[in-house]
Amino acid sequence: MSKFIFVTGGVTSSLGKGIIAASLAKLLQARGYRTTIQKFDPYINVDPGTLNPYEHGECYVTEDGAETDLDLGHYERFLNTHTSQANNVTTGRIYQHVINAEREGAYLGKTVQVIPHITDEIKRRMLLLGESGEYDIVITELGGTVGDIESLPYVEAVRQLKWELGEHNCVVIHLTLIPYLRAAKELKTKPTQHSVKLMSENGLNPDILVCRTEEALYKELKTKIALFCNVRQDAVIEARDADTIYGVPMEMLKERLDIITLQKLDLPLGDEPNLVKWTEFLNKLRYPKSKVTIGLIGKYVELQDAYKSILEALIHAGAVNECKVEVRNIHSEHLTRENALEKLEHLDAILVAPGFGSRGIEGKIEAIRIAREQGIPFFGICLGMQMACVEFARNVLKLSDAHSTEMAPETGSPVIAMMQDQQEITQMGGTMRLGAYNCTLREGSKIAAVYNSHNISERHRHRYEFNNRFKEQFETAGMVPSGINPETGLVEIVEIPEHPFFIGSQFHPEYKSTVEHPHPLFVAFIKAAKEAQELRAGATRLVLEEKGLRLER
Ligand code: GLN
Repeated sequence: MSKFIFVTGGVTSSLGKGIIAASLAKLLQARGYRTTIQKFDPYINVDPGTLNPYEHGECYVTEDGAETDLDLGHYERFLNTHTSQANNVTTGRIYQHVINAEREGAYLGKTVQVIPHITDEIKRRMLLLGESGEYDIVITELGGTVGDIESLPYVEAVRQLKWELGEHNCVVIHLTLIPYLRAAKELKTKPTQHSVKLMSENGLNPDILVCRTEEALYKELKTKIALFCNVRQDAVIEARDADTIYGVPMEMLKERLDIITLQKLDLPLGDEPNLVKWTEFLNKLRYPKSKVTIGLIGKYVELQDAYKSILEALIHAGAVNECKVEVRNIHSEHLTRENALEKLEHLDAILVAPGFGSRGIEGKIEAIRIAREQGIPFFGICLGMQMACVEFARNVLKLSDAHSTEMAPETGSPVIAMMQDQQEITQMGGTMRLGAYNCTLREGSKIAAVYNSHNISERHRHRYEFNNRFKEQFETAGMVPSGINPETGLVEIVEIPEHPFFIGSQFHPEYKSTVEHPHPLFVAFIKAAKEAQELRAGATRLVLEEKGLRLER
């Protein structure tokens, strides 16, 4: 039977529960335990697929096409294993199940209530991954903050499970904040005491406290926290702000979070954690030899979480290239035909982000034009790829009305259009082209060299597609559809062979980049950025030398 770890959060949101959960999972995995993580979110949306990125950050897509919370991205990036629909459950999904069962008469005339019916369904889902026999340890992260009304049924479900599973089969880790009051020059434990008290009022006592803090927790403070919060002193874990999220597993290792957890679960410590690859990555990340500047063109750039997986994939790729990647966020709404060149020409590469709707779309097209005309390495993801096709159609094929039917349903040149089966869909949630699809790469293409393979599989999240009616025209003019879905003939990748690096992918490669397997497309993109920078530096040197020569004369 699997053992279960629950991670709750107190005091405030954004303490980094996902990163702590992923870091602990990494350490347990590195000790040889088959570990997975799941997230339970207390909101009523059935999944985050319909949520605006401003509300909830990026929507992360799994292999099986589930639209999930962005924390699942961290789980995959840390553990290098796949998650699935089962790893993300929301209150909406729980209620949907219970209400459907009620309609089918499954409750035999009983009054359906939060306790036991909703809590039973929560418990069933919490145990589900453990029943597969695939995992020794299942970590469950509870979204939200203890004390929220909507978190209550989850806390209650964990309380019940703790009794049902028995002492050594279940551990509760509570993540909390120890604020530093600058004026008083003091770390304060009171919010933590209150948070733990709130939990114990609901009948749940944390076994381990992970304390987020800006300053080191000295021994007396740990003693005090232990005393007031009913935990052992060695179970008070310090979690200092880290320079990178990828440093957190090493910090947790130092604090012995893995050992204390395993002891509480009565599990052998196993081998010393094998973190060779992780440490190598971390060293490359921390000590880069060069730096490139990438322009990220999007419309949610104010909110870092909206492009989480892209930013992380760039970090992974930077480490491989031993190069710091500085991301310059550029709002596509601020780019015009007049200012685009000036705003973008100094960049080492340009990435046009995924997205929906027409806001800022002309700015994206302008950014792509500059990248294409100036030979700046370009990578377009999903909407970025679609707009690369629109730009090419307008400015090279001279189809001035070219557009995607998403933005211009009546255009005479619909180079991007909706597939037939999508046109009949009226429901919004979970109905896009989602999850992993195969793609065949053209012999001799740049993309085949990037992947070093001809058959790949990547994850999708979109409704619109390249319109194959225009395929020949594009190819003749120099934009090549070099990745095709073998089952449907849909264009998944376009590239311009004449350009130093110009690739658009209909899929989202960022979802599959992990610390142990940085994504080849991002790695190649950063390499191209480095080369572009070197080329420019060389050109500048030449010009200077020329000037110098002239001066001598
Ligand atoms: N809006 C586009 C579509 O639905 C692109 C989606 C995306 O970038 N993820 O096809």
